Amino acid sequence: MNSPDNPQAAPPGGHVDSYYAATARSLPSLPILEGRAETAVCVIGGGLAGLTAALELARAGQAVVLLEAERVGWAASGRNGGFVSASFSESILKLEERLGIEHARKLYSLSLDGVSYVRRTIEENGRSDIIGGHGWLKMIRHGDSAALKRTAERMAQDYGASYRFVARNELAQYVSSKRYHGGMLDLSPFHIHPLNYAGLVAQLAVDAGARLFEKSKVIALRREAGTWIVETVRGTVEARQVVLAGSAYGGPSGGLARRVNAAILPVSTYVVTARSARLEEAIRFEGCLGDTRRAGDYYRIVDGPGGEGRRLLWGGRITTRRSLPPHLGEELARDIRSVYPQLDDLAIEHAWAGLMGYATHKMPLLGDLGDGLWACTAFGGHGLNTTAMGGRLVAQAIAHDDDQWRLFTPFTLNWGGGLAGRLATQLEYWRLQFLDRIEEARARRQARFGG
Ligand SMILES: Cc1cc2nc3c(=O)[nH]c(=O)nc-3n(C[C@H](O)[C@H](O)[C@H](O)COP(=O)(O)OP(=O)(O)OC[C@H]3O[C@@H](n4cnc5c(N)ncnc54)[C@H](O)[C@@H]3O)c2cc1C
Repeated sequence: MNSPDNPQAAPPGGHVDSYYAATARSLPSLPILEGRAETAVCVIGGGLAGLTAALELARAGQAVVLLEAERVGWAASGRNGGFVSASFSESILKLEERLGIEHARKLYSLSLDGVSYVRRTIEENGRSDIIGGHGWLKMIRHGDSAALKRTAERMAQDYGASYRFVARNELAQYVSSKRYHGGMLDLSPFHIHPLNYAGLVAQLAVDAGARLFEKSKVIALRREAGTWIVETVRGTVEARQVVLAGSAYGGPSGGLARRVNAAILPVSTYVVTARSARLEEAIRFEGCLGDTRRAGDYYRIVDGPGGEGRRLLWGGRITTRRSLPPHLGEELARDIRSVYPQLDDLAIEHAWAGLMGYATHKMPLLGDLGDGLWACTAFGGHGLNTTAMGGRLVAQAIAHDDDQWRLFTPFTLNWGGGLAGRLATQLEYWRLQFLDRIEEARARRQARFGG
């Protein structure tokens, strides 16, 4: 197991020890930047935001260099839950309250384009092995399904989403758990092997002419005579434009880049994979599963290494600590058994952490910061569709002057609060957990006494 900040502890291959690294297929091996390079655009960060931007820039005929501190897909992009679905970290209905329905609809539609982009990229390149299953069953852990139904109706009526309400007795065909009281089934999301997807996008970018470098951490970024100078330990890139896509890992300091970093709150979250001979007794759904709690669990069934057997891939918990909790596997196993006590033979195989980058408004930081500096970052916990969307929007803006990114101008560079911001986030998570527990306890009482 590795800490998100401790690449030295990584297994061979330079990725953290995860189910994804253990089952990765044909990841490209890329050079270290040495010496000087000139380019039109330099992308900093080889997660899915930076990779998609580099791919789309190269496809649009731009000369592009991408610099990644570790390996492409090393961070959140290659460690996440793998759920690809519409929307953002902030809910669409909250965005509607803030910006009005027309603006919210345009944002939702862009988020859907991100979903289609991922699906198309996988299908057009004959990599259906990257997709693991379809549909998303979101379940409630309390008896009050009215709010869930209202959301489903609003999303159907005003945004064209198609959710189907699943009553408690119908849930039994998908899962066997006393924790859940009903659910909402959306057939359009799907789940992927995110590290293999990052490898595919990187390879496509290289094939399209982008120059990608790994183990090439950017340590300084400055402007000299109208050009951006991007320095790594062993090389320098001169570029007319720069795309910041470093997410929660700090990125280069100095000037506006520092303001982007300061606006991002790094939040850790955790995933395990586990074996059990009783998986099918508990879960009989091939798509994404999870609950609707404010800080809930999300999980899915995946193939075991070498296609052997089935595994449960389970994600949950949020903290602002950056080191790996010492008993992470046991803690998540406890969470799993609290939902599925029948999995008493559960054996954890991999347990890992990932860092998400959040802005205070929970929306991406996307767009032109001036002088040819672009932000394409802060996708939070909902990044598989939005990084595809963001990378494409920034590439289209640079290559074709497209101004759709302006839909994101209401989401500005607010200071994330540094250490105090991290503390506030942690306290907020505990508060939300507490509210979730109260709601569940109330539901249990009502179920017992019918009150
Ligand atoms: C455990 C976990 C589960 C998640 N589950 C889901 C999910 O199921 N569905 C979903 O939609 N989203 C999910 N997310 C969120 C999603 O993974 C992220 O939003 C998305 O991957 C962010 O992509 P990114 O490219 O912005 O950042 P990252 O993937 O974090 O990439 C940033 C890259 O920049 C590099 N970098 C940083 N600084 C520098 C520098 N100075 N020089 C060079 N390189 C630098 C880093 O090394 C890193 O590789 C999850 C996240 C985590 C952590």
